[in-house]
Amino acid sequence: MSPLEAVEDAVIELPSDQDSTGRTLGKEEIELLTEVINSGTLTSTKGTMVNSLERRYEEILDVRHAVACASGTAAIHTAVGAIDPEPGDEIISSPITDMGAIAPILYQGAIPVFADVDPRTCNVTAKTIEDRLSNRTRGIIVTHLFGNPAEMTAIMKLADKHNISVIEDCAQAYLAKVDGKMVGTIGAIGAFSLQQGKHITTGEGGACVSICPGLARRMRLFVNKAWGYGDPNPDHYFLAPNYRLTELQGAVALAQMDKLEKGVKQRIDMAHRLTDQISDLPGIAPPWQADNTVHSYWRYCVWVDDAEIPGGSPALGAELKKKGIATAPRYIQKPAFQCAVIKDQRTFGNSRFPYSLARPEAVDYAPENFPGTFKGLHDILVLPWNELYNETHIDFIASAIRSAHKSLRNGG
Ligand SMILES: *Cc1c(COP(=O)(O)O)cnc(C)c1O
Repeated sequence: MSPLEAVEDAVIELPSDQDSTGRTLGKEEIELLTEVINSGTLTSTKGTMVNSLERRYEEILDVRHAVACASGTAAIHTAVGAIDPEPGDEIISSPITDMGAIAPILYQGAIPVFADVDPRTCNVTAKTIEDRLSNRTRGIIVTHLFGNPAEMTAIMKLADKHNISVIEDCAQAYLAKVDGKMVGTIGAIGAFSLQQGKHITTGEGGACVSICPGLARRMRLFVNKAWGYGDPNPDHYFLAPNYRLTELQGAVALAQMDKLEKGVKQRIDMAHRLTDQISDLPGIAPPWQADNTVHSYWRYCVWVDDAEIPGGSPALGAELKKKGIATAPRYIQKPAFQCAVIKDQRTFGNSRFPYSLARPEAVDYAPENFPGTFKGLHDILVLPWNELYNETHIDFIASAIRSAHKSLRNGG
């Protein structure tokens, strides 16, 4: 066996974002947690950590207002609640995203309408959104999938023309940028997650941000049962949940925030290293990225052409699994509109509400209207990724991809 083959055969265990091998939790988090425990104040309504966390979000993103909340799903819910659609109004979202970018629309009595995606990025575009606009459209939730920004300039132009609010789902896109502007600060509201597998984590948690004081006020009320803390005559002004983060989570998040920039830089540097090593392979396309954008690489995704590589994405995934690399062929497997909650309209009892108010065209999921969605899902293979990947890990992944590519093209 030549030395090169020996290197190719060595299996390296990759850091995982599900445990300490791939997370940056350590003494900084413990120090702040100890402070909270010693203070005896675990609620953010009386403590300082969650408040400081919100100020850190504002500072890092350079945005006026941040409101911390219980999850990324809660952040999207809070954003939709702030926009306050009428029952039966429509909010456009993506069929390739987390259910957390869709379910909150239904909870607020609005109809999720799906725009097709660009198969090169699996992101919605101004054109696909425009195709789904109606006189009921109140908002658009734009997911920056895998950390690759959607085309916000064109989307904002369209939204402004029609007076529609844009919510940016940045759960996968901390510190991604479009023309030098952080995603999450371009639309009316940006939503972030602190779930276990995101760029930074408190296990569960989230935040939403806005430049608009009116929206920020509604966001703040929405996570607090709409109780007007600090008002002269407070009341529960409208229907809203308790989505507060605890001080314990605030402490961990605050320490995590200090590690964000370094982590994102490492994710990007390592992604570029991998791209350099695999971009010559016929049938495997590295992430496509628009000019003047920063992709912050929550995940590194490749597009696999099954005309070039027999078996396509699932076959490549199976080969990589033999080397201990657990990928997600086809990401979520099926578009969100094929999930029971949406397809079968399983909402509140047997009412089907709010679908009972929907225009038929808004809930028409005919596959021919979603060519980009099916093409994109068919082609993608999502690699695990995190900020503790180093050059050795990348070279291992690249070599595993190269040898899998060779073996599949030679007939498996
Ligand atoms: C993770 C995620 C969410 C939901 O966040 P949770 O904190 O898990 O509720 C929403 N949208 C996208 C794109 C996500 O990746």
